[in-house]
Amino acid sequence: MTTKTYAEVWDLDVFFKGGSSSPELRAHLETLKTKLESFEKQLSSFSVPQSGSEAEKIVSIIDEIKQVAENLTQAGAVVGCYLAQDTTDSQAKLLQGEIGSIGARFSSSMLIVQQQLSKTADSVWAELMKSKELNEFSFVLNEWRDEAKELLSEKEEDMITALGVDGYHGWGQMYDLLVGEVKVRVTVDGEEKEFSVGQASNLSSHSDPTVRKESFEALENAWTEKEDFFAKTLNHMAGFRLAVYKKRGWDSVLKEPLHTNRMKQETLDAMWGAISANKGPFVKYLKRKAEILGTDQMNWHDLDAPVTASTQKVSFQEGAEFILKHFGKFGPELEAFSRKAFEDEWIEAEDRPNKRPGGFCTGMPLSEQSRIFMTYSGTMSNVATLAHELGHAYHSYALRPVHWMNRRYAMGVAETASTFAEMIVADAAVKEAKSADEKLALLEDKIQRSVAFFMNIHARFLFETRFYEERKNGFVPANRLNELMEEAQREAFGDGLGEVHPHFWASKLHFYITSVPFYNFPYTFGYLFSLSIYAKAIEEGSSFEEKYIALLRDTAIMSVEDLAMKHLGEDITQHAFWEKGIALCVQDVEEFLELTSSKG
Ligand SMILES: [Zn+2]
Repeated sequence: MTTKTYAEVWDLDVFFKGGSSSPELRAHLETLKTKLESFEKQLSSFSVPQSGSEAEKIVSIIDEIKQVAENLTQAGAVVGCYLAQDTTDSQAKLLQGEIGSIGARFSSSMLIVQQQLSKTADSVWAELMKSKELNEFSFVLNEWRDEAKELLSEKEEDMITALGVDGYHGWGQMYDLLVGEVKVRVTVDGEEKEFSVGQASNLSSHSDPTVRKESFEALENAWTEKEDFFAKTLNHMAGFRLAVYKKRGWDSVLKEPLHTNRMKQETLDAMWGAISANKGPFVKYLKRKAEILGTDQMNWHDLDAPVTASTQKVSFQEGAEFILKHFGKFGPELEAFSRKAFEDEWIEAEDRPNKRPGGFCTGMPLSEQSRIFMTYSGTMSNVATLAHELGHAYHSYALRPVHWMNRRYAMGVAETASTFAEMIVADAAVKEAKSADEKLALLEDKIQRSVAFFMNIHARFLFETRFYEERKNGFVPANRLNELMEEAQREAFGDGLGEVHPHFWASKLHFYITSVPFYNFPYTFGYLFSLSIYAKAIEEGSSFEEKYIALLRDTAIMSVEDLAMKHLGEDITQHAFWEKGIALCVQDVEEFLELTSSKG
């Protein structure tokens, strides 16, 4: 059998020919604006429904919304790809700004729809939701209506949005500017060089301990020097958020992120509770790793240090074949879908300059296609990333038969399909490792994920909740932020750390993302939720795929509690559910401890 050669560069021309200066794209944007105007016009005569027979009226508004949203997403996704493949594409930057303002206009109109629906009398609403036209959208429509009820008047919300551009979001952009200014000098391979924050952070996994320590200290010093600027930025962002919450009468800072993730507080508490009760094995892992590295305790700057000198390389073609082979064992549809993604050039993986770092998957709804972006440099962890992004694309594929309204899943479940796919590949890689060193490196790669989700992200969550509590009483200065972060890290890492990273609050972009508050716990949720699905899939074999697709199809039309109950028969407000996923991760640690028992 000859293996196929898959392209390492994606095809974007099938959407709009000619890249960021494409006349087709220009025409598309004009069409989009026309559609938005038509929606706005229809909206001006859209009034509060007065009787259950007005379902048609709402259906036609939904249709307008769908058209604008799909055209907008299509344009935004393609332009996002242009920028990712070439960060110097200035035309694409202009387009991004243009699409951004169309998006803002669309959001304001959406808010009006929500406000009108929220004013509908309860009895009329109940009748509407029972109608055959609207019944399938009832979850989302109820959500819109409930959300609007929690908001202030249209006028007030409009003003908050308008002031947020130069206030709230302005501070978020200030952060990007500040970080861009930070440069540090580190000696690598006997030569002192200047590094950006991103480059210096990448040195955390360097094989030379001096480089790791030096880059960590250089960064800590740089954050210390500018800590007042970062503290001011963070405090104003949080202050803005808290002021809005107070006006709306919201007492908990978690109200918004929990609602967005369609999750109950009990679920979140059960998840962190189960994690907190199971830190022991991971602390043991940290201790063992410190022993292997020859230090008496685990220090922050050594967390990403490699434990072996394993350097096995996998070509892109080999990586692709590896993924397809193992996907096939879990589901024929997942395999067939992914093969098509490779064949149809959906993936941008080439290692070349001017690409942005990281990986993502984005969907083009008008074409029912996705695109995957990453930089493939031949490591097994690149193969896992590729599988991860294919998982995201598969989620979109599973949702194809579903109406646009019912496709908009939240961040927590967004990582379900991706983590599932990544797990298949990461597990297979450990099993098929060609040497003991290789096996250890791959196993550690898996454990690192658990440490990130159970410890690092837990620290972010603890820090953020405590910081918000203190911020309610006034400005929280840099030295107090350092203390809060240190406490959070000591607690979240189960006292398994020597040196901590007090300025982590300044270094982590996630605290400064204005579009999504609490950009942390949904990651851990997605990871553990997906692991329990993975455990079921192992039990049931490839026949599980049908059930898996059914679950993915429901990800945007019910709460996470209902989703788990319906498709997994599990009550996720209880510790027991979370313990099962954690147990799988503990197995990795046990294997690691066994393999390294002579190395300590
Ligand atoms: Zn992902």
